[in-house]
Amino acid sequence: MELKIRDTFNKELPSDTNTNNTRRKVFEAMYSYVNPKVPSHPKLIHASVEMAKAIGLDKNDTDSEDFLTIFSGSELYPKTESYAMAYAGHQFGNWAGQLGDGRAINLFEVLHNKKRWALQLKGAGETPYSRQGDGLAVLRSSIREYLCSEAMYHLGVPTTRALSLMLSGDEVLRDIIYDGNAAYEKGAIVCRVAPTFIRFGNFELFAARNDYKNLKKLTDYTIKYFYPELGKPSKETYIKFFKQVAVKTLDMIIHWQRVGFVHGVMNTDNMSILGLTIDYGPYGWLEGFDFVWTPNTTDRQNKRYRYGNQPNIGLWNLLQLANALYPLVEEAEAFESVLNQYKIDFDTKSLNMMRSKLGLTIEDKNDAKLIETLEDCLLLSETDMTMFFRLLSNHNKDDGQEGLKKIEASFYILEEIVGDVAQKWKDWFTAYDQRLQLETLTDKERCANMNLVNPKYVLRNYMAQLAIEQADKGDYSLINELFDLLKKPYNEQPKNQKWFAKRPDWARHKVGCSMLSCSS
Ligand code: AMP
Ligand code: MG
Repeated sequence: MELKIRDTFNKELPSDTNTNNTRRKVFEAMYSYVNPKVPSHPKLIHASVEMAKAIGLDKNDTDSEDFLTIFSGSELYPKTESYAMAYAGHQFGNWAGQLGDGRAINLFEVLHNKKRWALQLKGAGETPYSRQGDGLAVLRSSIREYLCSEAMYHLGVPTTRALSLMLSGDEVLRDIIYDGNAAYEKGAIVCRVAPTFIRFGNFELFAARNDYKNLKKLTDYTIKYFYPELGKPSKETYIKFFKQVAVKTLDMIIHWQRVGFVHGVMNTDNMSILGLTIDYGPYGWLEGFDFVWTPNTTDRQNKRYRYGNQPNIGLWNLLQLANALYPLVEEAEAFESVLNQYKIDFDTKSLNMMRSKLGLTIEDKNDAKLIETLEDCLLLSETDMTMFFRLLSNHNKDDGQEGLKKIEASFYILEEIVGDVAQKWKDWFTAYDQRLQLETLTDKERCANMNLVNPKYVLRNYMAQLAIEQADKGDYSLINELFDLLKKPYNEQPKNQKWFAKRPDWARHKVGCSMLSCSS
């Protein structure tokens, strides 16, 4: 197995001078050298062949003993030095100080086909940033990250990716629902991949300590490798950089809203500087359309990270990043104007995204109203978001209120669609049908367009849970099946029709299927 290693982060940026693996505050350094814990019986469960190809590996490589050795953390790749990154963050709206890679260890960077990839093991043991944690990850959460990050990639949502999923052979103690009943679970390691894993929190760490020298170094490094088109370091370049991060962050969140993804823990340490979805923890997929839903039990009270609040939180997080970058520019207006533009862009991009979900290609001044009325209807009775939008593409011009019949399968309780509720739906379908008269595309063309933005298959919470339960018993066939299914989420896959279904009743309140804790 040969990789074109091109390390930059740990070559160009200052490291922690202490190389002991002890938990501590780390100053004036971007990372600490640390070796992964050697797993007792590593075993490969799955490797992503596409991701392997992207870094220059093939199937023979992923099947090799070397692959198992390197991506389980048993040994380091020759001439590389692994490290954990230092960062801070705001968690649930509060300043949390230094956090850092508590259970992620960066192996190396690879350059392939002119693309740079950083490879990182999640769950590979303690680091100086592990605080009270053990640095490990359980199979359950590793399957969820592995399947979902690759599924998001194929949905066209900006995301970190995953190369491999392995069992460590070690046991990990976890209290899943924080009820005092801790139990041993299988430990696992995911190798995840992104151009860089730098987060908003990396900048916040230095800003909070008034360490402007390192703040500048980190910013210049980030621009040099990941935003090279912005030019040489200068105050204008830093503002342009912030602007680009704002645009990418908003675009990512609009994609989340489009597919019904709820991240669950949008803390600033979980915000990628590249606008990638990162840190798959207690995330979830909307089943019933619901603006106030969050899968994260830790956030049950305030629901800060609920579906409908994700765009606002993106803005709040960007404000924290602006505060962190401010010392490099010392002009508040420029940052404020970027943040104001985010709000304006959100309105337009969100409207256009919803237009695309409805198959509307031209702009009409009443579209916002039509969409708002639809959202009101979706909230009348539990309505499956994925099924609704996918079935809506079957609507033909002149179906009128009869269109309601074609989406009936998306209602969880069909009996509730009577009287006033049914009337509201019929009125909406009448309005939708009238609106379609302004469009020039044929029904078939509109259907094809809609099917490119409304996925047929997403990783419903219960699907991941079924894969987890089987995997726990040593059967990985469902992981394989779901992985393949989710490679083509927009395609009709007649053999896989069973996954185009509402959440089954048994999954409504089951742990792992509706609500998830941060315990992972
Ligand atoms: P998260 O909520 O997963 O983004 O994690 C927040 C912080 O806690 C990060 O600094 C993580 O590295 C750290 N962390 C989470 N789980 C563990 C663990 N099991 N051991 C050590 N650190 C952890
Ligand atoms: Mg995190």
